[in-house]
Amino acid sequence: MDKSLELLKKHWGFNSFRQSQAEIIRSVIKGEDTFVLLPTGAGKSLCYQLPALMTEGVCLVISPLIALMEDQVKSLESKGVKALLLSSKLNRHDTIIAFDNLMHGNFKFLYLSPEKLQSAFIQEKISQLPLNLIAIDEAHCISQWGHDFRSAYLKIPVLNELHPDIPKIALTATATSVVKQDIIENLKLKSPKIFTGSYYRDNLDISVLKKEAIRTGILDLLKSIDEPAIVYVGTRKNTIQFARFLTGNQIKATYYHGGLDSKQKSEALLQWKEEKTKVMVATNAFGMGIDKSNVRMVIHAHLPNSIENYMQEIGRGGRDGKVSFTYLLYNENSIFESELQLKKSIVSPEFCRSVYGKLNDYFQIAKGELNEGVFDFDPQEFALRYDFPFIQVYYALNHLHHEDIIFYDQNPAKTSRVRVIENNSKLFKVQSLQNIQAQVLQMLLRTYGGIHDQFIAINESLISSKLKQPKEAIIRALKRLDQDKVIVYKKSVNKLKLNFLVPREVNFIYHTIRANITQRNKTKKTKSLALHDFIKNDQTCRQIQLLNYFGEKLVQPCGHCDVCRSRENADKIDYKELSDQILSLIKKHKTLSIHEMGQFLQIDKEAIVKTLQLLVERKFIDLNLQNKFYLIT
Ligand code: ADP
Ligand code: MG
Repeated sequence: MDKSLELLKKHWGFNSFRQSQAEIIRSVIKGEDTFVLLPTGAGKSLCYQLPALMTEGVCLVISPLIALMEDQVKSLESKGVKALLLSSKLNRHDTIIAFDNLMHGNFKFLYLSPEKLQSAFIQEKISQLPLNLIAIDEAHCISQWGHDFRSAYLKIPVLNELHPDIPKIALTATATSVVKQDIIENLKLKSPKIFTGSYYRDNLDISVLKKEAIRTGILDLLKSIDEPAIVYVGTRKNTIQFARFLTGNQIKATYYHGGLDSKQKSEALLQWKEEKTKVMVATNAFGMGIDKSNVRMVIHAHLPNSIENYMQEIGRGGRDGKVSFTYLLYNENSIFESELQLKKSIVSPEFCRSVYGKLNDYFQIAKGELNEGVFDFDPQEFALRYDFPFIQVYYALNHLHHEDIIFYDQNPAKTSRVRVIENNSKLFKVQSLQNIQAQVLQMLLRTYGGIHDQFIAINESLISSKLKQPKEAIIRALKRLDQDKVIVYKKSVNKLKLNFLVPREVNFIYHTIRANITQRNKTKKTKSLALHDFIKNDQTCRQIQLLNYFGEKLVQPCGHCDVCRSRENADKIDYKELSDQILSLIKKHKTLSIHEMGQFLQIDKEAIVKTLQLLVERKFIDLNLQNKFYLIT
């Protein structure tokens, strides 16, 4: 471990490994396939990054989000480690250069999206790379039962053919036992070493409260602390409204949702991180990459979609290990809302088929034809034209995207691009330099090198501030220059980009995607129901319920959730001792009925029943066909 510690200090500046990191790293270095299930923030990246640094070759990392990969690459570079991200933005020429660099330029990491891996060209390039390790991050995306299924993940095993002998490591923060099994099977991990951390977060105090007035309930809770808090709400609109409500009640709050542009996002995040505002009101888009240790309260004003999401969200509290409070507030109305939301988000395979057909009509693609162009696409207008409910179109598009039928980029480039037409610009320059068009042109030529040769991303706001002219005037000038054929101006659009991945064969496609869509709908329902069950179950310790969901056992109720607190007052019987007695009795006699147990234990029958219930819930014992209890081993 000496060499690895040395590298840890040198590149990361940390003095020691965390609990499981050392063991995992040892397994990876030995060349074992490895499965890692550790909570967010546990430090999983290090588990593949460090071993990769210790051996010759390149580590290939598959990850689902460009933003995540960009973060990782930046962070590695800041540590003096060369890493490369193959994004879909690169054209073939740049891709070839990138692979040359990987082969000869001392690069240690290649980050790749699973979609990119599908290309035969990329596969061939990868087969030539001297890999030392393959890491699959967010590996739950490979499972239909995971909360973020991505069909492209299913094709990752192609790597087994390209590099049969390279060890793999799969990493995730949320996986039930079914998902875990799915990951191992689908990735074809060879007798993997399995490392699973506990989901148990001892320092979280969990409460689920039924409240008629949710808003004021939350206001009271927030008034009781001075430290940072997060409030999760259901919609983008709610983030704004709720933040305003809090501000109006003397609680400093800011908001965050997926529709904000990146500047607004980072401003909101910074304000909250630097504690200029106490409360962040957010949708579940607020998550990845938040690394604030002293969040003292996480509140849900709505029902999350799944226990997985709920766990991740409350898990942002108390990263510093100190006690933190989490509250889920609900009422009949919020259950209704959640059911409605679920209903809306479930679209049938048949509906997806109609949307797909109309999508082809919309872009005038004939039967059997594949148009490989990238289209600007406005889903609202599309929905309106064919009289589809917009929200359902949105979910249908998601399915089609997941199924690799279409590809659509929900976050289109927000930058404008300009190219200057050389001859015309020379003529133009000699004209009056007084007018704003000429000034803009000059600014373009001065600020952006190479703008004659290719399209360059420009920033209208920057030009506006340099020329001290309003942005609208700059945009008008750019448009005029474009009309005069001095430049080509491609203004940024908020429209989505969409392209087709397969030829138009409506029925064939329907048959290939039907089962998957049905399955995904089923998964969604099951997950939502599990969350509802959790909320309504006020008999079993919250932590026990959550851990059970992930296939873990907790020996004793946590003692600090709403259920435990209400029980504490209800009875003073020592259930711990009683459980121990019952367990050892069953062990001795192999099977026992309630009646037989009552004979052995001279104690109130109700307490025995209660304890038995608890032991069954926690999967220590079960009933056999003769109605006798036996130990689960
Ligand atoms: P995960 O992928 O499990 O969510 P990350 O790999 O992103 O977690 O790491 C979370 C944070 O923990 C990062 O800020 C990282 O620098 C930090 N970290 C990881 N390992 C250690 C360590 N051994 N000592 C101190 N900090 C660590
Ligand atoms: Mg991670």
